[in-house]
Amino acid sequence: MKRILITGASGQIGTELTALCRKTYGVDNVIATNVKAGINESVENDGIFYSMDVRDGNRIYELVNSHQIDTIINLAALLSAVGEKNPELLWEVNMHGLYNCLEVAKDTGAMVFTPSSIAAFGPSTPKMQTPQVTIQRPETIYGVSKVAGELLCDYYHKKFNVDTRGVRYPGLVSYKAMPGGGTTDYAVMIFYEALKHNAYTCYLSSDIKMDMMYMPDALSAILSLCEADGGKLRHRNAYNITAMSITPDDLAASIQKHLPDFRLSYDIDPIREAIARSWPDQLDDHFAREDWHWAPSYDLEAMTEDMLHQLRLKLG
Ligand code: NAD
Repeated sequence: MKRILITGASGQIGTELTALCRKTYGVDNVIATNVKAGINESVENDGIFYSMDVRDGNRIYELVNSHQIDTIINLAALLSAVGEKNPELLWEVNMHGLYNCLEVAKDTGAMVFTPSSIAAFGPSTPKMQTPQVTIQRPETIYGVSKVAGELLCDYYHKKFNVDTRGVRYPGLVSYKAMPGGGTTDYAVMIFYEALKHNAYTCYLSSDIKMDMMYMPDALSAILSLCEADGGKLRHRNAYNITAMSITPDDLAASIQKHLPDFRLSYDIDPIREAIARSWPDQLDDHFAREDWHWAPSYDLEAMTEDMLHQLRLKLG
């Protein structure tokens, strides 16, 4: 049975991961943490929760030690669009946070899972069937922190035998918590606006293709990879994974099958547009499929149907 500490547990992924881990491994075996309390009721009230800043390595050590944690899932981070506005803080949180987790893991023997992102690629990366090992020259501070984080995970694995695991997430679509300021947030907001106003104004151009994934697949990726036989893992930085490769137009067309009057218009944000254009169109995720049997359950149509159903229940 695993004993898990989750950082950044109140965010878009953490909210749902915390609930799933509590259900899978038992409420008392999951320690949820976030920089501050008061963000998310279910994360804070349905089990063990502590305020913890990932920049405070002693605090991470104290909680890992006192709760005999064997798996650290490090989700605390600033995302791409927010990070461009405050690069210094992003570096502090994303890099020092990960470094602290790896140092604690080195001393305690815990496994560290930390997500990378399609943002770890840049304009010189091959766009189609982006390979697992390829050119990584991102032009955002978020992407730079993801590449550096991947290399740090490789280093701690090779040098200190820390059991590091990670995935390069595409844009994630979910309905429980709002996204935290990433470039792919449109793929969540479009569903809310479709149901509320039958219309959405997108900040990216109609033809920008990016990888996306529905949250249930993103969560099962974490559990599968953390349960996988370490001896079979050929990559210790982060595995490419994807579920679909879509444009805003593709998503709108899928929504229109359920809401025929839905209309999509555009008001381009040059900053997020430039970031999105620098990312791959479609990742090659065969290493993840081979090494730990990665296989998504939701394609575009299945995701759209479930998002609309779940949001109708949520919004009443
Ligand atoms: P999010 O912004 O929704 O959540 C991050 C959480 O970290 C927030 O609850 C925030 O309060 C917390 N946090 C911020 N500073 C902190 C600090 N100093 N100490 C502790 N906690 C702090 O992000 P998310 O979408 O849940 O992303 C989690 C991870 O997944 C990140 O590493 C992110 O880069 C990665 N990722 C997310 C996506 C996506 O589409 N959501 C895509 C690719 C990768």
